Amino acid sequence: MLGNMMFQPLLISSMIEHAGRYHSDTLIISKNTDLSITETNWGKVRNNSKRFANVLNSLGAKLGDRIATIAWNNHRHLESWYAISGSGMVCHTINPRLFPEQLVFIINDANDKVILFDKTFLPLIKAVKPMLKSVEHFICLDAPDAAVKEQVPDVQFYDDLIAQHSEQFAWPEFDELTASSLCYTSGTTGNPKGVLYSHRSTVLHSYGICMPDSLNISARDIMLPVVPMFHVNAWGTPYAAAMVGCTMVLPGPGLDGVSLANMIDTYKVSVALGVPTIWQGLINAAQQSGTKLESLKRNVVGGSACPPAMMKVFKEQFDCETIHAWGMTETSPLGTSCQFKAKHQHLSDEEKLQIRLSQGRPPFGVDLRITDEEKSTHEIERDGKTSGNLQIKGHWIIQNYFGKAESALTADGWFDTGDIATLNEDGYLKISDRSKDLIKSGGEWISSVELENMAMGHPKIAMAAVIAAIHPKWDERPVLIAIKKPDADLSEIEILGYYADKVAKWQIPDKVIFVDSIPLSGTGKMLKKDLREQYGNVLLNS
Ligand code: ADP
Repeated sequence: MLGNMMFQPLLISSMIEHAGRYHSDTLIISKNTDLSITETNWGKVRNNSKRFANVLNSLGAKLGDRIATIAWNNHRHLESWYAISGSGMVCHTINPRLFPEQLVFIINDANDKVILFDKTFLPLIKAVKPMLKSVEHFICLDAPDAAVKEQVPDVQFYDDLIAQHSEQFAWPEFDELTASSLCYTSGTTGNPKGVLYSHRSTVLHSYGICMPDSLNISARDIMLPVVPMFHVNAWGTPYAAAMVGCTMVLPGPGLDGVSLANMIDTYKVSVALGVPTIWQGLINAAQQSGTKLESLKRNVVGGSACPPAMMKVFKEQFDCETIHAWGMTETSPLGTSCQFKAKHQHLSDEEKLQIRLSQGRPPFGVDLRITDEEKSTHEIERDGKTSGNLQIKGHWIIQNYFGKAESALTADGWFDTGDIATLNEDGYLKISDRSKDLIKSGGEWISSVELENMAMGHPKIAMAAVIAAIHPKWDERPVLIAIKKPDADLSEIEILGYYADKVAKWQIPDKVIFVDSIPLSGTGKMLKKDLREQYGNVLLNS
């Protein structure tokens, strides 16, 4: 027997309608590409998103079409997000930090029909435009500008377009399993892979992140998402913010510490979200200017492990609670967040700090397990000590990559994250290592395998390994460990120069260490773990 309750599909359009109706005058503060500030509100964002939905229809975009954005966190980007997904198209957010070949690959792979871009990325658009196969319209997220038109003659301007269209638009109703947005993630080797979210997964994830034991977001918050909208949808915050109707402070291109401290103090930000590198910049700027960031009650740290010293500084110098969270593109991203249980309240500060340094526990909606490193479906003990492969399942977890028919899951239906971790009896997660060959520098991935393969292509190198070394500013940086060919005369400068025309500048290793041998496993694989133990700290004192 079925229940007798209404059924309504979980659609993203209902979130912007809710914000527009019940939080109409709640402010949205946005820093533009020219650093000027626009003050708008949920009512106007809703209306403009409807205007832009009309624009998309007039351009001939259809249900399921991919509409790409290359943009900062700003109000036009926010409006266009709701227009795209709300009208049944797929919002494909592109990371402008990818190098041009990868950008061309993902735009063609996604078959994007329209590209929306901020002026900052004009040179990038100009460079890749001739290689794009599917894009029919280029829209600059700004007011008309002759200088942009000169570079991209067929460009249209967002402000012009929405002024020409009505704010009357009826959001279409469709299946909640319809795709809503697309985000590419770097693989260890080869091309990036797309993760295609649905309306249902996005709405459920939004409920998940607002819960008190997750990020605890409410209509009383003033939220600063520093994490870019092209990084797993700014961790889902633009959706969650509309769901609860909080104020958003969108930092645009101002991601340096001084700009962030100013935004926090000027707009009384209560909660901010970003990767550790961002927080280090903020701490330095605040310590220099002497601000106590008084309004900031909590900050969410994810993307990389939060250094203990950083958590202490936030608490002791700024009276700000750090919420440590773990997730990935494939998990929407919220997998865990660290909040106490009632039984922890009486613990000492030191014991509490130890809990807060873990990545926390899963909200209802996702489930975690640890399996042994050999047999990837054999679950091991939740004792907080035994580490293994971290696997996840749930309402907002990937099933298969975009355009790939094969499942991305284990035989028994879990997604293997490539992280090595422990879980304790209460489900608190502690990430200890990574089995995937990737280095995370300032929140962006670098493939160690690709750097190794390039090094191996150098005529004077016999063997090469690239490891993630801990770095005080960037969390991790690549270090190349190489064996020279017999009698080869090779310097660090020569090999670093060799990378210059092969990878983006920020991906070139920070250091080269020449060795006589690299430890190998029984099957001949390089033992990266041993190398990390030996050389993982070489950048700390340099
Ligand atoms: P994001 O854009 O959120 O960083 P990615 O998919 O690029 O998502 O990266 C996910 C990976 O980042 C995880 O598998 C893990 O290796 C690492 N990561 C994310 N959060 C944390 C954390 N709190 N502590 C340690 N590693 C983390």
